[in-house]
Amino acid sequence: MLGQMMQLPLLISSLIVHAERHHGEQLVVSRRVEGDIHRISYRELAARARRVANALQTLGVAPGQRAATLAWNTHRHMELYYGVSGSARVLHTVNPRLHPDQIVYIADHAEDQVMFFDMTFWPLIQAVAGRTKTVKHWVAMTSRAHMPPAEQAAKVPGLLCYEELLEQASDAYAWPVFDENTASSLCYTSGTTGNPKGVLYSHRSTVLHTMAAALPDCLGCGAADAILPVVPMFHVNSWGIVYLAPMTGAKLVLPGPGLDGKSLYELFETERVTISAGVPTVWQGLLAHVEANQLKFSTMRKSAIGGSACPPAMIRKFRDAYGVHVIHAWGMTEMSPIGTAAAFKGQHAELDDEGRLAVMSTQGRAIYGVDMKIVAEDGAELPWDGVASGDLLVRGPWIIDTYFKGEGGDPKVADADGNRWFPTGDVARITPEGYMVITDRSKDVIKSGGEWIGSIDLENIAMAHPAVAMAACIAAHHPKWDERPLLVVMKKPGMEVTRDELIAFYEGKIAKWWTPDDVVFVDAIPLGATGKMQKNKLREQFKAHKLPTA
Ligand code: AMP
Repeated sequence: MLGQMMQLPLLISSLIVHAERHHGEQLVVSRRVEGDIHRISYRELAARARRVANALQTLGVAPGQRAATLAWNTHRHMELYYGVSGSARVLHTVNPRLHPDQIVYIADHAEDQVMFFDMTFWPLIQAVAGRTKTVKHWVAMTSRAHMPPAEQAAKVPGLLCYEELLEQASDAYAWPVFDENTASSLCYTSGTTGNPKGVLYSHRSTVLHTMAAALPDCLGCGAADAILPVVPMFHVNSWGIVYLAPMTGAKLVLPGPGLDGKSLYELFETERVTISAGVPTVWQGLLAHVEANQLKFSTMRKSAIGGSACPPAMIRKFRDAYGVHVIHAWGMTEMSPIGTAAAFKGQHAELDDEGRLAVMSTQGRAIYGVDMKIVAEDGAELPWDGVASGDLLVRGPWIIDTYFKGEGGDPKVADADGNRWFPTGDVARITPEGYMVITDRSKDVIKSGGEWIGSIDLENIAMAHPAVAMAACIAAHHPKWDERPLLVVMKKPGMEVTRDELIAFYEGKIAKWWTPDDVVFVDAIPLGATGKMQKNKLREQFKAHKLPTA
């Protein structure tokens, strides 16, 4: 017997329609590429998104075809999020930090018909425009006054002005109703080896992920909040925040290209931001600015940190010095992206500050919709005892089934019950209470005498040293143990620490045989397109490093 409830598909357009009807006056505030602070209401933004849908029709982009963006977090990018997906086209967000060759590759692979870009990326557009196969229109996301000079513009055939395009389009448009499993957006992984692979989200997966992400134990956002995603809209849909704000009626504050500590802090204060989200490296810049200028956060109460491991020292500083609660979260492009978040359970109220910090430092519990387990090499499930570590598998309605165009075949693995799971490539342990701790990417694990050493634990300890700005722990060759940990450290400006002091710093904090064999100091640690340390580059750089213990 079927239930007798309305069949309304879960569509992305419903989010902006909801915001328009129920939070019409609420604001989206953007720091724009032009340099100004721009304000628009959800009501006005919804109308402009409808103009985008009509403009796409005029440009000849058919439903199902891909419209790409190379853009910062601003209201215009958000208009495209809704105008493109809401009209059944597919929004392909391109990461501008990728190499131009990779951008050409993914634009061709996605068969992008149009590319919308912020003027910051004009040099990049000039470099790639003549090389892509399918892009017919290049739309500069600005007004006529800020368009490139004529002699440069002539070099990019099909160049259009976004504001003109919208002016010429009508805002009369009825959002179409279609199957909720229709593709909505496309994001390529920034894999360190091989070509990037496309993750194709659907309306259903996106709306479900948004609902879960908004829950109190995840981003916990409501209509009285002002939320500022530092996480870029060009990578995994800014963790869903551009959907979650209209869904909850929260004010949305978009930082544009201003991701330095000073610009972010200004927006936090002037727009009375209560919640933010970003990767650890961005918060480092912000904290450095706040510390150096002896500032405080007047309204910020919560910051979600993920994308790479958040060092416990950072969680502590936010809490003890600034009264900001950190939600450590974990996920990946293939997971829309959120999988776990480190929120307390009732029993944790009895813990002291250190005990609570330990819970907050894990990658957290699975949010509803995501199931996870850890398995040994033979696929056997491992216990949740907080000790056993193995490959982390996940499944759920917003987790990838197959990559775009079937690239790489079926990535999933079957268990004994026939359930299919996505192998995350992460290695983790899970506590009896269900809190997951990532110990490594499986590619980065250090295998010493056949035993695994988790590099993230070692980095977290180094990051607690006052002179360390960033630390990466990599495997270095050892004649007896095969691999031993080598700590690569970038010092804070003007601070000093020696190799021996850092090695001594590990004493009593970790099993003795896990202690790094050596420390090297570098001016900078290479970061990838999504702000993660590129350990493959470091391994290459230090492949001939001779350990003193060898
Ligand atoms: P991406 O698909 O680029 O978002 O990268 C996903 C990967 O980032 C995950 O598989 C993890 O290796 C890593 N990652 C994300 N969040 C965390 C976290 N909180 N702690 C440790 N690693 C993380």
